[in-house]
Amino acid sequence: MKAPAFVPEDQEVILIVDDNESLRDSLVEILNSAGIRSVGAGSVRDALRLQAIHLPAATVVDYRLPDGSGIELANQLKELCPGSPVLLLTGYASLDSAIASVGQLDAYLMKPVPPHTFIQAIVNALIRYRLVAENERLVERLQRMTAFQASYDSITGLPNRTFLEMRLTESIAASAEAGNPLALFFIDLHGLEVLSDVFGHQVGDELLRQMGNRLMDLRREGDTVARFGGNEFVVIRQTTDTMDACLFGDRLVELMGLPFEMSGIEHRVRPYVGIVVTNPETPGQSTETLLQNADTAKYLARQKNQAGWELFEIRMRRRVVDRYEIERGLRNGFEGDFSLVYQAVVNIPSGDLVGAEALLRWDRTGHGIQLPGSFLDVAEESGLILPIGKWVLNRALSDLATWRRSGNLPSGFKLWVNVSPHQIAAPEFPELVSGLLSTHGIEPELLGLEILEEALIDAGEAEKVLRDLRGLGLSLNLDDFGAGHSNLSWLQELPITGIKIDRRFVAGLDVVGNIRGPAIVGGLIRLCEALGLAIIGEGVETEAQANVLSSMGCHFAQGYYFGYPMPGAPIALAEHIEKTGKSPAST
Ligand code: C2E
Ligand code: MG
Ligand code: MG
Repeated sequence: MKAPAFVPEDQEVILIVDDNESLRDSLVEILNSAGIRSVGAGSVRDALRLQAIHLPAATVVDYRLPDGSGIELANQLKELCPGSPVLLLTGYASLDSAIASVGQLDAYLMKPVPPHTFIQAIVNALIRYRLVAENERLVERLQRMTAFQASYDSITGLPNRTFLEMRLTESIAASAEAGNPLALFFIDLHGLEVLSDVFGHQVGDELLRQMGNRLMDLRREGDTVARFGGNEFVVIRQTTDTMDACLFGDRLVELMGLPFEMSGIEHRVRPYVGIVVTNPETPGQSTETLLQNADTAKYLARQKNQAGWELFEIRMRRRVVDRYEIERGLRNGFEGDFSLVYQAVVNIPSGDLVGAEALLRWDRTGHGIQLPGSFLDVAEESGLILPIGKWVLNRALSDLATWRRSGNLPSGFKLWVNVSPHQIAAPEFPELVSGLLSTHGIEPELLGLEILEEALIDAGEAEKVLRDLRGLGLSLNLDDFGAGHSNLSWLQELPITGIKIDRRFVAGLDVVGNIRGPAIVGGLIRLCEALGLAIIGEGVETEAQANVLSSMGCHFAQGYYFGYPMPGAPIALAEHIEKTGKSPAST
């Protein structure tokens, strides 16, 4: 192996300690002529004096010196300057005792020493020391870097979760001692993953950095701003009271919601902020609990589906725990615990059964039969709605096939199944529907899907799915029309076949003095007629409501007046209608 090239450093001096003047001079000369600066000393005293002046890069010490032992001097020099090698020069006679006492010294050289060997020994010792020193510097740098990485986030350069938790523990203690409340802000930037997916991770990372900078701009002395992970940031802030914290929440939401421009494209994320303010009179709040509470508040802020903050209160935790238990129940229970009930859709004037709507029920262990309102949003959020929705479609089509086989199906009957926004957003949904239709041998004309308006708010993918479904030959109704965002352009642009008038409008039809409600319903019916859309009134509870609807031109309806949702076949529904004799036409 080739020895590393040795280049003497400018100020580097080698100290030669030997009482033999001519030997000393010749050693100094050998080194100087090799370009290595050196100085000579003839005694221990001289050597220590020159050591202090030159701080030599290496020292060569004779074994015997007039005023002391070379070995003792060598050890003394090592102690004074451990980073500088000391070589012992010894004659044959003293070799054994020199070796025995060399200990921590670096090398020994036998007299007489050839010039080449002498230079090489010194160069080797210097190189070894340089390598050791370099290695130590690297290790130290590495340790500093590792310490940084353990506490800081590599993308934003902000403190990371570990650091934050440590700082939060300190801040809780400090604020309790000072008697001041502490505010914790948990920030979730909704939409960041989608941006990263669509535009690449570099854009996502850049956005995170810019968000981090914005937070740092808002930072007051003593605040801690950290990246918690993913698209979440946390701010710890000493505050005066809850109002102060909420005002800061406003500023956070405003600032984080402003658009970003990157490569000429404007991006925007939606901030959800959870806020917790500690009560200095309630000591002992743990770091973990505070973070959990802020997270809970953030979760509820997200629920509102618009940028904003939510302040933690203890009742929230209960709500979150309830949701969690519902999700666990849905996951564990699943198929065996679900069932469908059917509610009749009738022709108002004739009282004929023209269809039925499938409605989901969940027999929740320990809680009895649950209506969809108590678990659907959890199913939506957790994504469980996809397997559940598939189960509903499969069961409804299987029931329909059974009714048809038994000859129980009135002609023109249509089965309506509710589908959730998640299902409508999935591009593979039409394929799933067509697969199930063929599995059960059902013609698409027999099936209608009911879609909530909220599924269409972020139309995009949903619109394509709707077109594909329509292409299969299914009917598509907008459910609860008028209850939500009710965008009239949907009626024009989307491939829907009809609407269901929300029961809140229907309920107002027989209220004395209510003029606007019926006017809206009347207008809606005429609009649908003009657009060639079918219309069903839902939630009809009284004969008067049914009559008003019918007189306005809405001939199909559904509601407790005609029949409650019930398990079983349409024939039973028809019989039920007949028995209760509730169709206005039959009276
Ligand atoms: P929806 O599709 O509008 O269904 C009508 C709801 O109103 C049903 O509630 C029904 O029981 C109730 N209803 C029927 N007639 C009357 C009436 O005369 N008066 C009153 N006050 N209510 C009446 P339910 O079964 O609790 O379902 C609630 C919602 O849950 C449904 O509203 C639908 O949006 C959703 N849903 C039900 N089943 C499913 C399902 O399988 N999948 C999905 N994604 N959603 C479903
Ligand atoms: Mg419905
Ligand atoms: Mg409805």
